[in-house]
Amino acid sequence: MIEIITADITTLEVDAIVNAASNDLLGGGGVDGAIHRAAGPLLLKYCKTLGGCRTGEAKISPGFELPARRVILTVGPVWSGGDAYEAPLLRACYVNSFELALENAVHSIAFPGISTGVYGFPKEAAAKIALDVMLQYEDRFDRVIACCFSEADAGLYRQVLKAKL
Ligand code: ADP
Repeated sequence: MIEIITADITTLEVDAIVNAASNDLLGGGGVDGAIHRAAGPLLLKYCKTLGGCRTGEAKISPGFELPARRVILTVGPVWSGGDAYEAPLLRACYVNSFELALENAVHSIAFPGISTGVYGFPKEAAAKIALDVMLQYEDRFDRVIACCFSEADAGLYRQVLKAKL
């Protein structure tokens, strides 16, 4: 069962939360900024050793001061109209995050709406991709959480999920 919740992802007690990071992995605004603030300065120190991350790929770090044990850092595509492989790149973020989770004995995982903030990916199209991949992987996890940041986003996710089932 995919859980669709409205919450600040930094508060979740799960094996891993996913961060919508930037290519340099050096922190930014939005969910990335919130995760760095909650994890403490050791996260940035650790991220500096990871050598950045290509768009669509994923890396993993400890959770440091977060209630979550790990942070999976993935870099979503910047929306530039839809003809720049944004959809397959966003799908790759979810797939690579799940694969990294499986390799690291992560049994519960929470995702934010990757690319749907500053990166401008249209929310409904992004929710379709996110839920499509979540449905592919949910059987291999105890908990798969779509962590929305507003009730409106959660409503959209519920509507998209209902249409898929
Ligand atoms: P991107 O640069 O990938 O677009 P953003 O951080 O700007 O990343 O936004 C991604 C999504 O994360 C948005 O839908 C935003 O509402 C949501 N978000 C922002 N802060 C949090 C948070 N603390 N917990 C969960 N989701 C958040």
